[in-house]
Amino acid sequence: MNIHEYQAKELLAKFGISVPAGHPATSVEQAVAAAGKLPGPLYVVKAQIHAGGRGKGKFKELGADAKGGVRLADSAAAVQDHAKEMLGNTLVTIQTGDAGKQVNRLYVTDGVDIAEEYYLALLVDRATGRIAMIVSTEGGMSIEDVAHETPEKITTITIDPATGFMPHHGRSVAFALKLKGDLAKAAQKLARQLYEAFVALDCAMLEINPLVETKDGGLLVLDTKMSFDTNALFRHPDVEAMRDETEEDPMEVEASKHDLAYIKLDGDIGCMVNGAGLAMATMDIIKLNGAFPANFLDVGGGANREKVTAAFKIILSDPAVKGILVNIFGGIMRCDTIAEGIVAAAREVDLDVPLVVRLEGTKVQEGKDILANSGLPIIPAEDLGDAAQKIVAEVKQAA
Ligand code: GDP
Ligand code: MG
Repeated sequence: MNIHEYQAKELLAKFGISVPAGHPATSVEQAVAAAGKLPGPLYVVKAQIHAGGRGKGKFKELGADAKGGVRLADSAAAVQDHAKEMLGNTLVTIQTGDAGKQVNRLYVTDGVDIAEEYYLALLVDRATGRIAMIVSTEGGMSIEDVAHETPEKITTITIDPATGFMPHHGRSVAFALKLKGDLAKAAQKLARQLYEAFVALDCAMLEINPLVETKDGGLLVLDTKMSFDTNALFRHPDVEAMRDETEEDPMEVEASKHDLAYIKLDGDIGCMVNGAGLAMATMDIIKLNGAFPANFLDVGGGANREKVTAAFKIILSDPAVKGILVNIFGGIMRCDTIAEGIVAAAREVDLDVPLVVRLEGTKVQEGKDILANSGLPIIPAEDLGDAAQKIVAEVKQAA
Protein backbone atom coordinates (compact mmCIF):
# COMPACT_ATOMS: atom_id res chain seq x y z
CA MET A 1 0.00 0.00 0.00
CA ASN A 2 1.22 3.47 -0.89
CA ILE A 3 0.47 6.75 0.84
CA HIS A 4 0.83 10.40 -0.10
CA GLU A 5 3.93 12.47 0.53
CA TYR A 6 2.22 14.63 3.18
CA GLN A 7 1.13 11.53 5.08
CA ALA A 8 4.58 9.96 4.90
CA LYS A 9 6.10 13.16 6.24
CA GLU A 10 3.61 13.18 9.13
CA LEU A 11 4.74 9.67 10.02
CA LEU A 12 8.43 10.49 9.72
CA ALA A 13 8.01 13.55 11.93
CA LYS A 14 6.73 11.25 14.69
CA PHE A 15 10.14 9.56 14.62
CA GLY A 16 11.87 12.88 15.15
CA ILE A 17 12.87 13.28 11.51
CA SER A 18 13.09 16.85 10.15
CA VAL A 19 10.72 17.69 7.31
CA PRO A 20 9.69 21.12 5.98
CA ALA A 21 6.49 22.44 7.55
CA GLY A 22 3.43 22.05 5.35
CA HIS A 23 -0.33 21.59 5.14
CA PRO A 24 -2.47 19.54 2.72
CA ALA A 25 -5.23 21.28 0.76
CA THR A 26 -8.09 20.04 -1.38
CA SER A 27 -9.31 23.47 -2.53
CA VAL A 28 -7.79 26.76 -3.63
CA GLU A 29 -9.05 28.40 -0.42
CA GLN A 30 -7.37 25.74 1.70
CA ALA A 31 -4.14 26.18 -0.23
CA VAL A 32 -4.14 29.93 0.47
CA ALA A 33 -4.97 29.29 4.13
CA ALA A 34 -2.11 26.77 4.27
CA ALA A 35 0.31 29.40 2.96
CA GLY A 36 -0.97 31.78 5.64
CA LYS A 37 0.13 29.34 8.34
CA LEU A 38 3.68 29.12 6.94
CA PRO A 39 6.43 31.68 7.49
CA GLY A 40 7.06 32.43 3.78
CA PRO A 41 8.20 34.21 1.70
CA LEU A 42 8.99 31.07 -0.33
CA TYR A 43 6.37 28.31 -0.63
CA VAL A 44 6.18 25.08 -2.60
CA VAL A 45 2.89 23.81 -4.04
CA LYS A 46 3.09 20.03 -4.55
CA ALA A 47 0.58 17.76 -6.31
CA GLN A 48 -0.31 14.80 -4.10
CA ILE A 49 -0.62 11.73 -6.28
CA HIS A 50 0.74 8.25 -5.77
CA ALA A 51 3.49 8.69 -8.34
CA GLY A 52 6.92 10.25 -8.49
CA GLY A 53 8.48 12.50 -11.09
CA ARG A 54 5.93 15.22 -10.38
CA GLY A 55 8.39 18.05 -10.76
CA LYS A 56 9.15 17.11 -14.36
CA GLY A 57 5.54 16.07 -15.03
CA LYS A 58 3.15 17.83 -17.42
CA PHE A 59 -0.51 18.71 -16.99
CA LYS A 60 -2.64 17.31 -19.79
CA GLU A 61 -5.02 20.23 -19.84
CA LEU A 62 -2.30 22.91 -19.82
CA GLY A 63 0.09 24.04 -22.54
CA ALA A 64 3.50 22.46 -23.11
CA ASP A 65 5.31 25.28 -21.32
CA ALA A 66 3.11 25.22 -18.21
CA LYS A 67 4.91 24.28 -15.00
CA GLY A 68 4.83 20.74 -13.55
CA GLY A 69 3.45 19.23 -10.37
CA VAL A 70 5.97 20.78 -7.94
CA ARG A 71 6.02 24.57 -8.08
CA LEU A 72 7.83 27.26 -6.18
CA ALA A 73 5.72 30.28 -5.18
CA ASP A 74 7.05 33.57 -3.79
CA SER A 75 3.77 34.83 -2.36
CA ALA A 76 0.38 33.63 -1.15
CA ALA A 77 -1.08 35.06 -4.36
CA ALA A 78 1.26 32.86 -6.41
CA VAL A 79 0.21 29.85 -4.31
CA GLN A 80 -3.38 30.69 -5.21
CA ASP A 81 -2.59 30.86 -8.94
CA HIS A 82 -0.76 27.54 -8.88
CA ALA A 83 -3.51 25.85 -6.87
CA LYS A 84 -6.12 27.05 -9.38
CA GLU A 85 -4.10 25.64 -12.26
CA MET A 86 -3.26 22.31 -10.65
CA LEU A 87 -6.38 21.17 -8.79
CA GLY A 88 -8.68 19.00 -10.87
CA ASN A 89 -6.22 18.71 -13.74
CA THR A 90 -4.38 15.58 -14.86
CA LEU A 91 -0.69 15.25 -14.19
CA VAL A 92 1.34 12.91 -16.40
CA THR A 93 4.73 11.80 -15.05
CA ILE A 94 7.13 9.00 -15.98
CA GLN A 95 5.44 6.92 -13.28
CA THR A 96 1.74 7.53 -14.05
CA GLY A 97 1.58 6.14 -17.59
CA ASP A 98 -0.02 8.13 -20.42
CA ALA A 99 -3.40 8.36 -18.70
CA GLY A 100 -1.88 10.45 -15.89
CA LYS A 101 -3.50 11.06 -12.52
CA GLN A 102 -6.01 13.68 -11.51
CA VAL A 103 -4.69 16.04 -8.86
CA ASN A 104 -7.29 16.29 -6.11
CA ARG A 105 -5.00 17.31 -3.31
CA LEU A 106 -2.04 19.64 -2.86
CA TYR A 107 0.60 19.98 -0.21
CA VAL A 108 1.70 23.53 0.47
CA THR A 109 5.09 23.55 2.16
CA ASP A 110 7.66 25.93 3.44
CA GLY A 111 10.19 26.63 0.66
CA VAL A 112 13.73 25.49 1.38
CA ASP A 113 17.02 27.03 0.21
CA ILE A 114 18.82 24.02 -1.20
CA ALA A 115 22.61 23.63 -1.20
CA GLU A 116 22.81 19.95 -2.24
CA GLU A 117 20.40 17.17 -3.19
CA TYR A 118 21.09 13.56 -2.12
CA TYR A 119 19.34 10.21 -2.46
CA LEU A 120 18.62 7.78 0.37
CA ALA A 121 16.24 4.84 0.27
CA LEU A 122 15.47 1.83 2.43
CA LEU A 123 13.92 -1.33 1.06
CA VAL A 124 13.61 -5.01 1.75
CA ASP A 125 16.36 -6.62 -0.30
CA ARG A 126 15.06 -10.06 -1.22
CA ALA A 127 18.46 -11.28 -2.41
CA THR A 128 20.04 -10.85 1.03
CA GLY A 129 16.84 -11.09 3.08
CA ARG A 130 17.79 -7.85 4.79
CA ILE A 131 16.88 -4.21 4.84
CA ALA A 132 19.16 -2.35 2.47
CA MET A 133 19.98 1.35 2.40
CA ILE A 134 20.63 2.73 -1.06
CA VAL A 135 22.65 5.92 -0.89
CA SER A 136 23.82 8.33 -3.55
CA THR A 137 25.17 11.84 -3.85
CA GLU A 138 23.11 12.15 -7.05
CA GLY A 139 19.73 13.06 -5.58
CA GLY A 140 16.87 14.98 -7.12
CA MET A 141 16.94 13.42 -10.55
CA SER A 142 15.85 9.98 -11.64
CA ILE A 143 17.86 7.42 -9.68
CA GLU A 144 17.17 4.86 -12.43
CA ASP A 145 19.35 6.92 -14.79
CA VAL A 146 22.11 7.13 -12.20
CA ALA A 147 21.94 3.35 -11.65
CA HIS A 148 22.16 2.83 -15.40
CA GLU A 149 24.81 5.36 -16.39
CA THR A 150 26.96 5.80 -13.29
CA PRO A 151 26.31 2.81 -10.99
CA GLU A 152 29.52 3.58 -9.08
CA LYS A 153 27.73 6.59 -7.61
CA ILE A 154 25.30 4.34 -5.75
CA THR A 155 26.25 2.64 -2.48
CA THR A 156 24.23 -0.20 -0.96
CA ILE A 157 24.48 -0.91 2.75
CA THR A 158 22.69 -3.97 4.14
CA ILE A 159 21.75 -4.31 7.78
CA ASP A 160 21.79 -7.61 9.62
CA PRO A 161 18.46 -7.95 11.46
CA ALA A 162 20.28 -9.74 14.31
CA THR A 163 22.29 -6.61 15.17
CA GLY A 164 19.90 -3.99 13.86
CA PHE A 165 21.22 -0.57 12.96
CA MET A 166 24.80 -0.07 14.23
CA PRO A 167 26.88 3.12 14.38
CA HIS A 168 29.06 1.87 11.50
CA HIS A 169 26.00 1.77 9.24
CA GLY A 170 25.44 5.44 9.96
CA ARG A 171 29.09 6.24 9.25
CA SER A 172 28.86 4.36 5.95
CA VAL A 173 25.85 6.46 4.95
CA ALA A 174 27.63 9.71 5.84
CA PHE A 175 30.76 8.55 3.98
CA ALA A 176 28.78 7.58 0.87
CA LEU A 177 27.24 11.08 0.88
CA LYS A 178 30.73 12.60 1.31
CA LEU A 179 29.57 14.53 4.37
CA LYS A 180 31.84 15.84 7.11
CA GLY A 181 31.47 17.33 10.59
CA ASP A 182 28.00 18.21 11.83
CA LEU A 183 26.38 17.19 8.56
CA ALA A 184 27.94 13.73 8.83
CA LYS A 185 26.56 13.45 12.36
CA ALA A 186 23.13 14.56 11.16
CA ALA A 187 23.23 11.93 8.39
CA GLN A 188 24.12 9.20 10.90
CA LYS A 189 21.26 10.20 13.15
CA LEU A 190 18.82 10.42 10.24
CA ALA A 191 19.84 7.00 8.90
CA ARG A 192 19.15 5.46 12.32
CA GLN A 193 15.78 7.23 12.61
CA LEU A 194 14.76 6.10 9.14
CA TYR A 195 15.72 2.51 9.94
CA GLU A 196 13.69 2.66 13.15
CA ALA A 197 10.69 4.08 11.31
CA PHE A 198 11.02 1.49 8.55
CA VAL A 199 11.00 -1.43 10.99
CA ALA A 200 8.38 -0.01 13.35
CA LEU A 201 5.94 0.73 10.53
CA ASP A 202 6.54 -2.49 8.54
CA CYS A 203 7.51 -0.55 5.45
CA ALA A 204 8.24 -2.19 2.13
CA MET A 205 10.02 0.86 0.76
CA LEU A 206 10.98 4.28 2.07
CA GLU A 207 12.59 6.61 -0.43
CA ILE A 208 13.94 10.08 0.25
CA ASN A 209 14.62 11.93 -2.98
CA PRO A 210 15.88 14.46 -2.51
CA LEU A 211 17.37 14.52 0.93
CA VAL A 212 18.69 18.06 1.02
CA GLU A 213 21.50 19.93 2.62
CA THR A 214 20.07 23.36 3.33
CA LYS A 215 22.00 26.60 2.83
CA ASP A 216 22.10 27.02 6.63
CA GLY A 217 23.79 23.63 7.07
CA GLY A 218 20.99 21.25 8.04
CA LEU A 219 19.67 18.01 6.55
CA LEU A 220 16.03 17.86 5.54
CA VAL A 221 13.74 15.27 3.97
CA LEU A 222 12.37 17.26 1.04
CA ASP A 223 10.44 14.51 -0.72
CA THR A 224 9.52 11.00 0.36
CA LYS A 225 7.69 7.99 -0.96
CA MET A 226 6.60 5.30 1.44
CA SER A 227 4.96 1.95 0.87
CA PHE A 228 3.91 -0.73 3.31
CA ASP A 229 3.78 -4.48 3.58
CA THR A 230 0.04 -5.09 3.14
CA ASN A 231 0.20 -8.27 5.20
CA ALA A 232 1.34 -6.26 8.22
CA LEU A 233 -1.25 -3.49 7.93
CA PHE A 234 -3.43 -5.04 10.63
CA ARG A 235 -0.73 -3.99 13.08
CA HIS A 236 -1.00 -0.34 11.98
CA PRO A 237 -4.59 0.93 11.90
CA ASP A 238 -3.28 4.51 11.77
CA VAL A 239 -1.38 3.71 8.57
CA GLU A 240 -4.28 1.73 7.12
CA ALA A 241 -6.49 4.80 7.64
CA MET A 242 -4.17 6.71 5.29
CA ARG A 243 -5.17 4.55 2.35
CA ASP A 244 -6.48 6.65 -0.55
CA GLU A 245 -8.60 4.37 -2.71
CA THR A 246 -9.02 7.02 -5.39
CA GLU A 247 -5.32 6.50 -6.19
CA GLU A 248 -5.67 2.75 -6.73
CA ASP A 249 -6.93 0.60 -9.58
CA PRO A 250 -10.75 0.44 -9.01
CA MET A 251 -10.89 -3.28 -9.78
CA GLU A 252 -8.11 -4.03 -7.30
CA VAL A 253 -9.92 -1.99 -4.64
CA GLU A 254 -13.15 -3.93 -5.28
CA ALA A 255 -11.25 -7.23 -5.12
CA SER A 256 -9.64 -6.37 -1.81
CA LYS A 257 -13.10 -5.67 -0.33
CA HIS A 258 -14.00 -9.29 -1.05
CA ASP A 259 -10.67 -10.56 0.19
CA LEU A 260 -9.68 -11.61 -3.32
CA ALA A 261 -6.07 -11.34 -4.46
CA TYR A 262 -6.47 -9.69 -7.87
CA ILE A 263 -3.89 -8.11 -10.14
CA LYS A 264 -4.81 -6.77 -13.55
CA LEU A 265 -2.64 -7.92 -16.46
CA ASP A 266 -2.55 -7.18 -20.19
CA GLY A 267 -3.96 -10.36 -21.79
CA ASP A 268 -7.52 -11.38 -22.72
CA ILE A 269 -8.18 -14.57 -20.75
CA GLY A 270 -9.69 -13.94 -17.33
CA CYS A 271 -8.59 -16.45 -14.68
CA MET A 272 -10.36 -17.50 -11.50
CA VAL A 273 -8.29 -19.89 -9.43
CA ASN A 274 -7.99 -20.92 -5.80
CA GLY A 275 -4.49 -20.77 -4.39
CA ALA A 276 -1.64 -18.52 -5.51
CA GLY A 277 0.49 -21.43 -6.77
CA LEU A 278 -2.32 -22.83 -8.86
CA ALA A 279 -3.04 -19.32 -10.17
CA MET A 280 0.59 -18.98 -11.28
CA ALA A 281 0.48 -22.42 -12.94
CA THR A 282 -2.76 -21.46 -14.71
CA MET A 283 -1.22 -18.28 -16.08
CA ASP A 284 1.84 -20.22 -17.22
CA ILE A 285 -0.17 -22.80 -19.08
CA ILE A 286 -2.29 -20.15 -20.80
CA LYS A 287 0.94 -18.62 -22.07
CA LEU A 288 2.24 -22.04 -23.09
CA ASN A 289 -0.83 -22.32 -25.31
CA GLY A 290 -0.09 -19.01 -27.00
CA ALA A 291 -2.41 -16.61 -25.18
CA PHE A 292 -2.06 -14.18 -22.27
CA PRO A 293 -3.89 -13.95 -18.95
CA ALA A 294 -6.00 -10.84 -18.30
CA ASN A 295 -5.44 -11.08 -14.58
CA PHE A 296 -4.09 -12.96 -11.62
CA LEU A 297 -6.95 -13.87 -9.32
CA ASP A 298 -6.76 -16.05 -6.25
CA VAL A 299 -10.17 -16.55 -4.63
CA GLY A 300 -8.48 -18.20 -1.65
CA GLY A 301 -9.25 -21.38 0.20
CA GLY A 302 -12.76 -20.54 1.36
CA ALA A 303 -14.24 -19.73 -2.04
CA ASN A 304 -18.02 -19.53 -1.59
CA ARG A 305 -20.81 -18.37 -3.85
CA GLU A 306 -20.46 -14.70 -2.85
CA LYS A 307 -16.74 -14.68 -3.51
CA VAL A 308 -17.10 -16.48 -6.84
CA THR A 309 -19.80 -14.00 -7.91
CA ALA A 310 -17.67 -11.04 -6.88
CA ALA A 311 -14.72 -12.52 -8.76
CA PHE A 312 -16.79 -13.03 -11.92
CA LYS A 313 -18.01 -9.45 -11.79
CA ILE A 314 -14.51 -8.11 -11.41
CA ILE A 315 -13.16 -10.22 -14.27
CA LEU A 316 -16.06 -9.25 -16.55
CA SER A 317 -15.79 -5.55 -15.77
CA ASP A 318 -12.47 -5.64 -17.65
CA PRO A 319 -13.40 -4.98 -21.30
CA ALA A 320 -10.24 -6.80 -22.45
CA VAL A 321 -11.55 -10.17 -21.20
CA LYS A 322 -12.59 -12.39 -24.13
CA GLY A 323 -12.92 -15.67 -22.22
CA ILE A 324 -12.71 -17.04 -18.68
CA LEU A 325 -10.86 -20.02 -17.32
CA VAL A 326 -11.95 -21.28 -13.90
CA ASN A 327 -9.49 -23.68 -12.34
CA ILE A 328 -10.46 -24.85 -8.88
CA PHE A 329 -9.06 -27.56 -6.70
CA GLY A 330 -11.66 -28.67 -4.16
CA GLY A 331 -9.80 -29.60 -1.00
CA ILE A 332 -11.50 -28.34 2.11
CA MET A 333 -14.01 -26.64 -0.18
CA ARG A 334 -16.03 -29.28 -2.03
CA CYS A 335 -16.35 -29.18 -5.82
CA ASP A 336 -20.16 -29.37 -5.69
CA THR A 337 -20.35 -26.24 -3.53
CA ILE A 338 -18.01 -24.45 -5.93
CA ALA A 339 -20.00 -25.64 -8.97
CA GLU A 340 -23.18 -24.24 -7.41
CA GLY A 341 -21.38 -20.97 -6.86
CA ILE A 342 -20.15 -20.85 -10.46
CA VAL A 343 -23.63 -21.58 -11.86
CA ALA A 344 -25.31 -19.00 -9.65
CA ALA A 345 -22.67 -16.40 -10.41
CA ALA A 346 -22.74 -17.08 -14.18
CA ARG A 347 -26.53 -16.56 -14.15
CA GLU A 348 -26.30 -13.40 -12.09
CA VAL A 349 -23.70 -11.70 -14.27
CA ASP A 350 -25.14 -12.57 -17.72
CA LEU A 351 -22.01 -14.26 -18.89
CA ASP A 352 -21.33 -13.28 -22.51
CA VAL A 353 -17.87 -14.77 -23.08
CA PRO A 354 -16.85 -18.45 -23.24
CA LEU A 355 -16.29 -20.09 -19.86
CA VAL A 356 -14.11 -23.17 -19.39
CA VAL A 357 -14.18 -24.83 -15.98
CA ARG A 358 -11.77 -27.38 -14.63
CA LEU A 359 -12.66 -28.90 -11.29
CA GLU A 360 -10.61 -31.43 -9.36
CA GLY A 361 -10.75 -32.83 -5.86
CA THR A 362 -13.43 -33.66 -3.30
CA LYS A 363 -16.90 -34.43 -4.80
CA VAL A 364 -15.61 -33.68 -8.28
CA GLN A 365 -18.21 -35.80 -10.10
CA GLU A 366 -21.08 -34.11 -8.25
CA GLY A 367 -19.56 -30.77 -9.21
CA LYS A 368 -19.27 -31.70 -12.88
CA ASP A 369 -22.87 -32.91 -12.90
CA ILE A 370 -24.10 -29.59 -11.53
CA LEU A 371 -22.25 -27.72 -14.30
CA ALA A 372 -23.49 -30.12 -17.01
CA ASN A 373 -27.11 -29.91 -15.84
CA SER A 374 -27.15 -26.14 -15.40
CA GLY A 375 -28.27 -25.41 -18.94
CA LEU A 376 -25.45 -22.85 -19.18
CA PRO A 377 -22.88 -23.06 -22.00
CA ILE A 378 -20.10 -23.99 -19.60
CA ILE A 379 -17.28 -25.92 -21.26
CA PRO A 380 -15.94 -28.64 -18.93
CA ALA A 381 -12.25 -29.55 -18.95
CA GLU A 382 -10.52 -32.69 -17.76
CA ASP A 383 -7.22 -31.28 -16.58
CA LEU A 384 -5.15 -28.13 -16.63
CA GLY A 385 -3.70 -28.73 -20.12
CA ASP A 386 -7.11 -29.51 -21.56
CA ALA A 387 -8.60 -26.42 -19.89
CA ALA A 388 -5.95 -24.08 -21.29
CA GLN A 389 -6.23 -25.53 -24.82
CA LYS A 390 -10.00 -25.17 -24.76
CA ILE A 391 -10.17 -21.58 -23.56
CA VAL A 392 -7.42 -20.44 -25.94
CA ALA A 393 -9.19 -22.16 -28.87
CA GLU A 394 -12.54 -20.57 -27.89
CA VAL A 395 -11.07 -17.07 -27.67
CA LYS A 396 -9.15 -17.45 -30.96
CA GLN A 397 -12.26 -18.72 -32.70
CA ALA A 398 -14.36 -15.79 -31.47
CA ALA A 399 -11.73 -13.26 -32.59
P1 GDP B 1 9.13 14.72 -7.49
O1 GDP B 1 9.43 15.42 -8.78
O2 GDP B 1 7.78 14.04 -7.53
O3 GDP B 1 10.21 13.78 -7.07
O4 GDP B 1 8.98 15.87 -6.37
P2 GDP B 1 10.05 16.52 -5.38
O5 GDP B 1 9.36 16.86 -4.12
O6 GDP B 1 11.26 15.66 -5.26
O7 GDP B 1 10.42 17.88 -6.08
C1 GDP B 1 11.12 17.95 -7.30
C2 GDP B 1 12.21 19.00 -7.25
O8 GDP B 1 11.66 20.26 -6.92
C3 GDP B 1 13.26 18.76 -6.17
O9 GDP B 1 14.25 17.87 -6.58
C4 GDP B 1 13.77 20.15 -5.93
O10 GDP B 1 14.81 20.45 -6.85
C5 GDP B 1 12.59 21.03 -6.21
N1 GDP B 1 12.01 21.46 -4.91
C6 GDP B 1 11.10 20.84 -4.16
N2 GDP B 1 10.89 21.47 -3.00
C7 GDP B 1 11.70 22.57 -3.01
C8 GDP B 1 11.99 23.64 -2.09
O11 GDP B 1 11.45 23.72 -0.98
N3 GDP B 1 12.89 24.57 -2.48
C9 GDP B 1 13.53 24.51 -3.69
N4 GDP B 1 14.41 25.45 -3.97
N5 GDP B 1 13.31 23.51 -4.56
C10 GDP B 1 12.42 22.56 -4.24
MG1 MG C 1 11.37 13.52 -5.51
